[in-house]
Amino acid sequence: MESTKLHAAILSSPGMGHLVPVLELGKRLATHHGLEVTILVVTTHSSPAESQLLDPSTAPKHLRILQLPPVDISSLVNPDTKIVTLLAIIMRQARPSLRSALCAMEHRPAMFIVDLFGSEAFEIANEFNMSKYVFVTSTAWFTALTIYCHVLDKEVEGEYVDQNEPLSLPGCKPVRPEDVVDPMLDRTNQDYYEYMRIGVEYSLSDGILMNTWEDLEGTSLKALRDHKIMRSIVKVPVYPIGPLTKPVEPAGPNSELLEWLDKQPSESVIYVSFGSGGTLSAEQTIELAWGLELSQQRFVWVLRPPIEGHGGSSFFTSGSGPDGTPDYCLPDGFLTRTHNVGVVVPLWAPQVKILSHPSVGGFLSHCGWNSTLESVSNGVPMIAWPLYAEQRMNATMLEEELGVAVKPKVLPTKKVVRREEIEEMVTIVMESNKHGRKEMKERAKELKNSGKNALSKGGSSYKSMCEVINKDCQLRLESHKLQALQQ
Ligand code: UDP
Repeated sequence: MESTKLHAAILSSPGMGHLVPVLELGKRLATHHGLEVTILVVTTHSSPAESQLLDPSTAPKHLRILQLPPVDISSLVNPDTKIVTLLAIIMRQARPSLRSALCAMEHRPAMFIVDLFGSEAFEIANEFNMSKYVFVTSTAWFTALTIYCHVLDKEVEGEYVDQNEPLSLPGCKPVRPEDVVDPMLDRTNQDYYEYMRIGVEYSLSDGILMNTWEDLEGTSLKALRDHKIMRSIVKVPVYPIGPLTKPVEPAGPNSELLEWLDKQPSESVIYVSFGSGGTLSAEQTIELAWGLELSQQRFVWVLRPPIEGHGGSSFFTSGSGPDGTPDYCLPDGFLTRTHNVGVVVPLWAPQVKILSHPSVGGFLSHCGWNSTLESVSNGVPMIAWPLYAEQRMNATMLEEELGVAVKPKVLPTKKVVRREEIEEMVTIVMESNKHGRKEMKERAKELKNSGKNALSKGGSSYKSMCEVINKDCQLRLESHKLQALQQ
C-alpha cells in the first residue's frame, strides 16, 4: 500500500447487518475517494456468509480486511443478556487487539470510523491521534432517537411502551411508543443503559455518517443539523452518505433457484426473508405459509426453523419436501401443493441477486435497514414485517412517509398475523391492477432513482463524503501547523 494516501481505519462490530454497509463504505472510500482503507472486523465466529463477504481476494485495491482475533465473552454473559449489551461487551473486549493491530501498522490511519456499536474505541483513536467518526448503519430518524434518548430518559416517566402519546423528537417525526427500538423496551435492563451511552458517545466524534440520503430523510437530517434543541445535543456535523448496499452476489449454490426465477413472468414473484437472523414462531410460520398459498402468488421464501418464546430456538420439522428441502413446521403438503409456484430456500439466499431479478415484484421483509435499502434500490415495494432492533421505526417510515410498503394492522411482535391478512397484503403488493401496488411501485422507482443520483458524482451523498474527507484534511493541516508553531 502507498503511504502517501489518507488512511482510514473502519471498525466493524459482528453481524451481517453491520459488516455489509461497513464493507461498502470501505470500498467507496478506496475506489471513489482515493483513500487507503483498513477494515478491522470484530468477530465471535464467522458464518459461511460472513466468510464469503470477508474474502480478501474480492476486496478492491487499497482496501485491506483485517479480522481481529475472536473474543471470548462466555464468562461475561448469560442466556438473558440482550443483543445491545452483548455487542457492547464484545466490542469492549476487542479493544486490546484493536490497539495491537493499530500499533502494528506501518502506515498509521489518520481517520478512525466505527460503526454504531464501536464508540467506546474512541479512546484508542485519541491515543493514536486519529480523527473519529461514527457510521450509523441505519436512518437519520433512528440516529436522532439514539442521541436524544438520554433526554427522554429525564422527561418520560414509566416505560416508553406504556405512554399514551408519541415520544417527541425535536424537529423529527415523533416515535410511537410501540415502535421504540428494542433496548428502549425495558428501562431496567442493561441494554437500555448501553444504548443511552452509545447515543451520548456519538457526540464525542468529529462527525456522524449515516446510511441514508438527503431526499429520503430531509426532515430528520434538517433537525439533526439545524433544530436548536437537537443541535445543542448533537454538536457535531452529520453526513448522509448512502444508500450503501451490497452488490449482486455470485450465484453460488443457488443456480437452480435463479434458473427458476428466469422462467417466471416479470414482477410476479414475492421474495420472503427476515434478514440474517430473523425467525418466526411455529404458529406464525404456519399462518405465513397459508397466507402465501391462499394469495396464489409466486414466491421465494427463505425459511428458518421457528423459535418459541424468548431466545430459545426449537426445531419443528414435519418431514421433507419432494426435493428434500426442510419444511420446518410448514402445513402438511404445503411444499407439494405449491411446488409449481413457490420455492422454499433453507436458511440463506443471495438476496440482492433475487431482489434485482426482473421476475421479483415484492418483498416481505423484516425491515432490517440493509434489506430495506436493497429493496428500495431495486424499486421493489414491500410488506413491512418488523421483528427486532429499530425495524418497527423503519416499517412505519416505509409505510407512512415513503409510501413503499404495507404493514400488518397489529405489529407482528405483538400478535400473530393471520393468513387472511397476509393473503390481502400479498395481493395488494403483487397485483398490478390494484391501486396500492401501482402507487407503491412508482414511489419505489422514484426512490431507486433518487438513491442512485445521491451516490453519483456530484450527488448529495457523494458530496457529503467529499466534505468529510476535505474537512478532515483541513483539520489535520491546522493541527500540524499548530504543532510546528509550538515546537
Ligand atoms: N442476507 C442475505 N441472504 C439472506 C438473508 C440476509 O444475503 O438469506 C443479507 C441481506 O442482503 C442484507 C443482510 O444480510 O444485506 C441483512 O441485513 P439487514 O440489515 O437487512 O438485517 P439484519 O440481518 O441485520 O437483521
